[in-house]
Amino acid sequence: MSKPIVAIVGRPNVGKSTLFNIFADSRISIVEDTPGVTRDRLYAEAEWLDRRFMMVDTGGIEIANTDSIAVSIREQAKIAIKEADVILFVCDARTGVTTEDQEVAKLIRMAQKPVVLAVNKADTPTQELEAYEFYNLGIGEPYMISASNRLNLGDLLDAVVSHFPDEDESDDDHDDVIKVAIIGRPNVGKSSIFNDIIGQTRSIVSDVAGTTRDAIDVPVMKDGQTYLFIDTAGMRRKGKIDEPIEKYSIIRTLRAVDRSDVVLMVLDAVDGVTEQDKKIAGYAHEAGKGIVLVVNKWDLYQKDEMSTVHYTETIRKELIFMPYANVVYVSALTQQRISRLPDLIKDAAEANAMRISTSVLNQVVTDAVAMNQPPMEKGKHLKILYATQVKVKPPTFVIFCNEPEIMHFSYQRYLENKLREAFGFQGTPINLIVRGKNEDN
Ligand code: GDP
Ligand code: GDP
Repeated sequence: MSKPIVAIVGRPNVGKSTLFNIFADSRISIVEDTPGVTRDRLYAEAEWLDRRFMMVDTGGIEIANTDSIAVSIREQAKIAIKEADVILFVCDARTGVTTEDQEVAKLIRMAQKPVVLAVNKADTPTQELEAYEFYNLGIGEPYMISASNRLNLGDLLDAVVSHFPDEDESDDDHDDVIKVAIIGRPNVGKSSIFNDIIGQTRSIVSDVAGTTRDAIDVPVMKDGQTYLFIDTAGMRRKGKIDEPIEKYSIIRTLRAVDRSDVVLMVLDAVDGVTEQDKKIAGYAHEAGKGIVLVVNKWDLYQKDEMSTVHYTETIRKELIFMPYANVVYVSALTQQRISRLPDLIKDAAEANAMRISTSVLNQVVTDAVAMNQPPMEKGKHLKILYATQVKVKPPTFVIFCNEPEIMHFSYQRYLENKLREAFGFQGTPINLIVRGKNEDN
């Protein structure tokens, strides 16, 4: 299910990233420890009152063609207004209301999106008295908070969560349909690839009653399998008019990844893997999605017979946390290898949903341990007792042992590799959770 998106907006230095880091869910740290997953985040998952949501720090979004802070704040606010479910507008109690605050407030008021106003750095009760001036922004009650002193943050989050849409359990979760997000920077060839796929498969848009020409999710059929391409707005038309100012529509991309089973991550053969690509790939990895790495514009790349080998080596180094992802070299222009994409998507989806029986799983784990005993840690022996799969999408395994805290990262990696040797899981991340023998799942 797609999680509500909360965008944090405000001038530099008001405390946006401090708040962001406080609210970010510590549970994701398991995956964050994976080498190569970037720590410099624009987005993070958070939870309050049992509602999970996604936070985006718009201060981190790069805006094209501007050095002016005022312009970038305005553009960031516009992105938040367009794409977030709730806007968290942060001001500074110490500076009071500034002209830039007023400008952002004006944009937000016009948009009529749910907005919560936080006035940060109200570190002492006297500063709470200064709240009145923020009423003048015309966007409701200011929440006087202090990120540093953790004051009133609960009330603030209550207000944020109260604006979420009701939880919708009926999201399009048909198991027989594979949901695919095509992602990548502008101009890498997403639309071209999508149009090629549409051309080579049976589009069933017109069969579905009520779908419009601009439907943003497009179902297609190939060899009896239905694929639902997510958030393809703008991909089907030639000559897009509404070019985003944002270099890369992060929020939109995250939302599409969130809703998908498999991510087609499109790279430009000439540019290779960029920093933004790494962040988005890291997100898809942490979200546990199936993934296919598509290197497009292969026709433009100067090739020799070793090109794909060398190129793949470079990709593996850049995206070190996803050695499991298949890499395919395509040209949307000449349609080279485009026809392989549906099968690669299907393989990744199947691996992502794979369930292993407990007996077979334990056989593999027992054999792995027999072949390579866990090393002693702090004078103790780690004993692995039992393993079980608790979830699919992605496959998630709990490994029970005598002393979970002495399980070493490298040994966990060894077990993961053994599971991959035995079961493949090509195209999907898997999760290993280590528990003590008396802990619940
Ligand atoms: P951003 O640019 O909006 O993301 O702001 P930062 O989160 O980087 O914070 C800017 C500065 O304000 C940092 O030096 C923070 O330590 C400081 N800061 C953040 N929250 C508070 C607060 O509640 N009280 C005080 N006094 N300082 C804060
Ligand atoms: P998007 O912004 O990611 O959707 O990218 P588009 O599909 O709109 O493609 C951007 C530009 O790259 C267009 O001019 C395409 O014609 C061109 N392009 C796309 N795929 C290829 C390819 O495989 N080879 C070459 N040479 N050009 C391509």
